[in-house]
Amino acid sequence: MDKNYIDNMLAEMDKDLSSKGFSRRDAMKLAGISGASLMMGASEVSAATEETAPTSTSNAKGKILIVGGGLAGLSTAARLTLNLADPDITIIEPQPLSATYQPGQTLVGAGIWDESDVLYNRDDYVPDGVKLIEDKVIDFDPNGNKVTTAKGQVVTYDYLIMATGLQLDFERIKGLESAGRAYSAGDNSKLLKVLGDGGICSIYTHEGAAKTWEQMQKYIAQAKSGKKTKFLFTHPSTPIKCGGAPKKIMYLTNSRLKEAGARENAELIFYPNGGAMFGVPEYHDAILEQFKREDFKWHYRHNLIEIEPENKIAVFDSKWQEKGEWDPMMREFEVIAKHEKLRVPYDFIHITPPQIAPREVRESDLGSAGGWVPVNKETLQHVKFNNIFAIGDIAQVPMGKTGGSIRKQYKVLVNNLIAQMEGKPLTTKYAGYTVCPLITSIGTVMLAEFDWTVTPTPSFPLDPTVERWVHWLMKVYALKPMTMYGMLSGRA
Ligand SMILES: Cc1cc2nc3c(=O)[nH]c(=O)nc-3n(C[C@H](O)[C@H](O)[C@H](O)COP(=O)(O)OP(=O)(O)OC[C@H]3O[C@@H](n4cnc5c(N)ncnc54)[C@H](O)[C@@H]3O)c2cc1C
Repeated sequence: MDKNYIDNMLAEMDKDLSSKGFSRRDAMKLAGISGASLMMGASEVSAATEETAPTSTSNAKGKILIVGGGLAGLSTAARLTLNLADPDITIIEPQPLSATYQPGQTLVGAGIWDESDVLYNRDDYVPDGVKLIEDKVIDFDPNGNKVTTAKGQVVTYDYLIMATGLQLDFERIKGLESAGRAYSAGDNSKLLKVLGDGGICSIYTHEGAAKTWEQMQKYIAQAKSGKKTKFLFTHPSTPIKCGGAPKKIMYLTNSRLKEAGARENAELIFYPNGGAMFGVPEYHDAILEQFKREDFKWHYRHNLIEIEPENKIAVFDSKWQEKGEWDPMMREFEVIAKHEKLRVPYDFIHITPPQIAPREVRESDLGSAGGWVPVNKETLQHVKFNNIFAIGDIAQVPMGKTGGSIRKQYKVLVNNLIAQMEGKPLTTKYAGYTVCPLITSIGTVMLAEFDWTVTPTPSFPLDPTVERWVHWLMKVYALKPMTMYGMLSGRA
């Protein structure tokens, strides 16, 4: 990125801001990020933790058990230690690298960061005084207030926080069954072996993200050599974490192809299961324009169900509707749902896997029919058990599967859990905020923020559908420190 480009972008941003009576520093503060840190360089970004630390502590007592020590579990533990005078907290987490920074996996997948830039040790983020059990819960007994771990330990609690995240269900895709189910962190060598070296990849695990960059370079080189090369990107039929990630890796592949002078030999095609680019109409419209501008192709209502690695064929369940008979009672035509298998050749395919609640949660009395832990979406308290709360990817909360949502949820959960411990009403409410920094190229991001109103809810007084370099800076330099030093210390 040359200096002129940066100066122009800054000038454009300052013009926009000053028309609203804001300085650049004010705008960054509004977004909860230190303006100085963002504009003065990465070394100072730890100042991003300046946001509100809790001001009062409670004397409430009780044995708190957190199952899952990823972003949600560890942040919540940290905030509880700040809010309780005498905390008694235990975390159960099997993975030593559970504090890994998943949003950075997209950047690893495109060779902008290294895998080591996202790897963090869980034990460095377990707050002082919090007990850790390195194990996995295999049985939940919410009526007896206890859980059993894989090693046979029975752990009792007064209050339980479910923060198990979700599982990546590669085994649902025919041809990849032996990959099994994976977590973003941990040993995924079995999955990588099944994906192989023939252009099948996924940024949804950190090892897979590194492998994605390897594979991407191979097929960019193929396009550069003059061979027409087909790049496919999928989005499954289940809820997923970070709804923007399937598209972000496509935009970044596009940038890398352009950089290599290989774009004209490449076809980039997006196959989402749904019928729109984004749930918020304003962002959907903006993305469609970006797709047209970049000459991407897309086919709605296609769900990846099978891969034939040896033939390099992806098989999709393709769905559409047809007009049926006239119904004289309803005074309208019937709508007939149709579907068929569609076989599509690929050179490179990025798979966003189907995502589900871990089996042991789904099969327990804690999970809903769909597997996710059913909670009051505003208070995050379990709908059946008052002493149980859920947060993050496992919680059955609409549109809540992002780190950005967790940043709002963990403060709500801590306030409400303490209220419950003190016998008071639960008054703090989550409003459904989530954020998707949609990377649209190396150097630009459209910061899609929204909540349950399904309308844009920008933190900046700027048009949120415009792709901006300043949001790229925020994504690449500020969000990781805000997460790793801010959220994981319970303060941001
Ligand atoms: C490629 C990618 C890009 C993303 N991009 C963004 C982004 O740009 N912005 C954004 O805000 N978010 C993004 N996210 C989403 C964000 O990272 C996740 O929503 C967030 O990390 C979820 O946190 P969590 O604590 O709920 O789950 P996790 O961090 O996955 O942690 C869950 C933990 O629970 C443990 N666990 C599971 N089962 C059990 C059990 N039975 N017993 C004990 N422990 C258990 C697991 O080992 C795991 O460590 C992205 C995610 C990915 C994969």
